[in-house]
Amino acid sequence: MGHEFTSLVLALLWTGGHPPKVEAEVIEQIKSLDTPMKFEVYMSLSCHNCPDVVQAASLLSILNPLIETVVVDGSLFQAEVNARQVMAVPMVYLNDQVMGSGRMSLEEMLSKLDTRSDEREARKLSEKDPFDMLVIGGGPAGSAAAVYAARKGIRVGLAAERFGGQLNDTMAIENYISVLETDGPTMAASLEAQVRHYEVDVMNMQRVQRLVPAENPGDYIEVEMTNGASLKARSVVVSTGARWRNVNVPGEEQYKNKGVAYCPHCDGPLFKGKRVSVIGGGNSGVEAAIDLAGVVQHVDLVEFADALKADAVLVSKLKSLPNVSIHLNAQTTEITGDGLKVNGLIYKHRSTGESHHLALEGVFVQIGLVPNTEFLKGTIELSRFGEIVIDPKCHTNLHGVFAAGDASTVPYKQIVIAAGEGAKAALSAFDYLIRSPSPVSDEESNLAELSD
Ligand SMILES: Cc1cc2nc3c(=O)[nH]c(=O)nc-3n(C[C@H](O)[C@H](O)[C@H](O)COP(=O)(O)OP(=O)(O)OC[C@H]3O[C@@H](n4cnc5c(N)ncnc54)[C@H](O)[C@@H]3O)c2cc1C
Repeated sequence: MGHEFTSLVLALLWTGGHPPKVEAEVIEQIKSLDTPMKFEVYMSLSCHNCPDVVQAASLLSILNPLIETVVVDGSLFQAEVNARQVMAVPMVYLNDQVMGSGRMSLEEMLSKLDTRSDEREARKLSEKDPFDMLVIGGGPAGSAAAVYAARKGIRVGLAAERFGGQLNDTMAIENYISVLETDGPTMAASLEAQVRHYEVDVMNMQRVQRLVPAENPGDYIEVEMTNGASLKARSVVVSTGARWRNVNVPGEEQYKNKGVAYCPHCDGPLFKGKRVSVIGGGNSGVEAAIDLAGVVQHVDLVEFADALKADAVLVSKLKSLPNVSIHLNAQTTEITGDGLKVNGLIYKHRSTGESHHLALEGVFVQIGLVPNTEFLKGTIELSRFGEIVIDPKCHTNLHGVFAAGDASTVPYKQIVIAAGEGAKAALSAFDYLIRSPSPVSDEESNLAELSD
């Protein structure tokens, strides 16, 4: 039953009265939803993003009698999948309308259902006392920073848009030292458990939109969230990671989740027996092509450069596969479709200038990552690739602001490196804290004025 076996067992346990591992506040929020809702969740058994959504929707219906959930294995119900044009999983329908696709936590689903929750959350955050250290980002870098800082006995907060970061999209991890093999969601859950063990104030699903730097060493740094809340901290570790790079050609946006996909592990099975293309000939592109070749009818790998950049061992494996064609020197210019879904890809041969149309049903974009640092433009020094410029001790150019992991200029974007950098950033921030004067609180400055 693939990844969904766990979902089935959990649904049985919860139905039998076993308490879910969810905060009491969230359970109350689910129980207080007062409109009838019907969820239909499309999943595939090999999709590692699906169980979160399946489990969240199951729990909603188990805890609230007004909510009904139907989970559909897309590969078994092809007619239904085709009729609804489901081309990426997980895909969630709420009362017959698309509610969303891709990984969604229970809290994310709830925030879409309970529109007043944003306001309540913003008020709660703004009332928090200033932190000694605020970590932005909950991937390996942010988690390591939070654990290292909390072990110093200081007040630590961690605000993340999606705890776990890229780990949530990672299938197999075989290169984290001391762990022979694991998968991303399992590692993300262990990180969260360790962070919470140290009583870090975890503020998940909170997106930062602006950082107001300290004027002098020791002054508070202000961190503004998209929901309007504002947090204060004496030091900040930015570890906002990176995300998939788009190919930015006509058709990509229009056919996202309608044939344009980014996660071969998740969406590959939906293209069983079909023809697909992979854009990108680096490690991720070649890995994706090898993986997909085992499921689909044929893979066209399209690479801009005149050679594949992936490791030699992967390239030779790819070349040994009978159902893969490799197109080098090929610039993707358009992803075509029939208005509803993808039906092809056009690339231009960079030496001859000739255009070629490949007829296919799916396009997997695998051309690397972009750092999540747009919100810092104009505030902090960034490299020409948008990475936060750091020195060997993770200092940025701002007082009290440190950076770590994929969002920074550290070379080699890997989990073990991000975790090490997070630890280093926290130690540097702690060093900064013990050497900087404490900020004068408003109350103290009022008192100072009065005594003057
Ligand atoms: C498919 C895939 C497979 C991979 N496989 C491996 C592997 O096998 N081995 C390996 O070592 N590495 C692998 N990597 C790379 C590895 O996942 C990254 O190097 C690592 O996750 C980087 O950690 P990070 O903490 O710097 O960033 P991320 O993991 O990207 O975490 C960033 C965090 O910041 C949050 N965030 C972003 N913007 C904001 C904002 N404005 N406000 C608040 N929070 C924000 C995110 O929600 C997230 O919590 C893989 C990556 C991918 C995508």
